[in-house]
Amino acid sequence: MTKPKPRNPSSPQHEPDNFQGPLAIISDIHGNVDALAVVLEDIAANRCRAMVCLGDIIGYGPEPGACVNLVREYASAVVIGNHEAMFLEILKAGPRAREKTNAMWKALALAREELTKSDRAWIRKLPLTAIARETTFVHGSLHLPHEFDYIFNEQSAKMNFAVQETPFSFHGHTHVPVVWEEKGKEVTGYTPEEAPIQLDPAFRYAICVGSVGQPRDEDPRASYALFEPETRRLAIRRLKYNIPRAMDRFRERGLGGFHLERLAEGQ
Ligand code: ZN
Repeated sequence: MTKPKPRNPSSPQHEPDNFQGPLAIISDIHGNVDALAVVLEDIAANRCRAMVCLGDIIGYGPEPGACVNLVREYASAVVIGNHEAMFLEILKAGPRAREKTNAMWKALALAREELTKSDRAWIRKLPLTAIARETTFVHGSLHLPHEFDYIFNEQSAKMNFAVQETPFSFHGHTHVPVVWEEKGKEVTGYTPEEAPIQLDPAFRYAICVGSVGQPRDEDPRASYALFEPETRRLAIRRLKYNIPRAMDRFRERGLGGFHLERLAEGQ
């Protein structure tokens, strides 16, 4: 895998004047290393200046350790997702947490086996939000980010915009790519095309980048965003990856059921 040469997005002084590579924004990897590897290749091919991760690196999927390693290596900024927050709760609960047997808990128990002391310390320090280049990053919504609200309609998008201090924000959590556009008091959402789109400087935006490892918009391909803050060009990238291989990894780790089956359907 070619390294995408990430740079710290909050340190523009490290970029040459003519550098115009996009920011790559990924979210909701959920332990799916096959999908993540394909996304990282695409980020490298697009000569991105940096990669930002919006959380939920772990949970549901079979490779939490490998995914945390790759994100720690390649991302310049990372915010915490609800699955990382649940993971920290499980660590705190200790042996009492062993009583639960549902699929979500099983995947987090796997993370507890795989993640090193250094990974755990890293997760504990992840912020709820990050800001760079007039852009805010959050897992769920800027409205009470620690409660991991979902932006799923005009009303919830408005609650996000009410506290958004930058022209652009990016989020994940719903696993469905959507561009929310605020024109005055009106907020509308639309599904972005795969061809790059130009955001309007007169409006503000809250963009869901979709999910790398558990897409839920009836398109099973991995999803992430490329964004150039200077030109306001946005592209939602959709990438095929080896889904049967990913499903085998779930089975090998004893993670069956809904979160395995939905990979093939993307819902
Ligand atoms: Zn998620």
